[in-house]
Amino acid sequence: MPRHFAETELIVASHNAGKVREISDLLAPYDIAIRSAASLGLPEPEETGASFVENAELKALAAVEASQKPALADDSGLVVPALGGQPGIYSARWGGPDRDFGLAMERVNAELGQGDRKAHFVAVLSLAWPGGHVESFEGKVYGRLVWPPRGDKGFGYDPMFQACGQTITFGEMEPALKHGMSHRAEAFKQLIHACFRRRR
Ligand code: IMP
Repeated sequence: MPRHFAETELIVASHNAGKVREISDLLAPYDIAIRSAASLGLPEPEETGASFVENAELKALAAVEASQKPALADDSGLVVPALGGQPGIYSARWGGPDRDFGLAMERVNAELGQGDRKAHFVAVLSLAWPGGHVESFEGKVYGRLVWPPRGDKGFGYDPMFQACGQTITFGEMEPALKHGMSHRAEAFKQLIHACFRRRR
């Protein structure tokens, strides 16, 4: 049985304002005071894990350790089977110190060449409590990589990712539509179902 979240305050273990906003919106019906790791001045741990789950859990547990409050973290990325799963957990790092995803997409496309263009995004959400209990949930969205990239509505690798059954890329999609089908939405659905009950 997954542990139920009965507390009134939750730290979102991210320094990314976009992620914090998205998570706050999704948790709005649950009447929980959300604080971001950045607003509390918590340090950002190094992502030393070998998988999305390990990285999400280490981020959530580091925030718990620093705040002594429950914390939620997410780790995500683009997986390309024909590249042996890369960029995977290194998706953010392929953007370099300036997080230049134009460059990262060029690299994916160049390394792929004529290879199989199937790809999927993965997101893992980890909810951790003081004492070290953690619940983790994984969502995926499958699709293919297109070239050249199209659209400027999303972020990261969105302009080169076309989900199965779609004719436009995530970069061309209205955010509300993307958020209905994304890897993060899927992980969220599982988290909410397992750990949260509406309070209003
Ligand atoms: P992290 O989870 O903060 O370590 O970074 C995940 C990286 O994966 C982001 O910087 C993006 O490059 C990529 N990524 C994750 N989710 C998405 C998405 O929904 N669209 C595009 N890129 C994504």
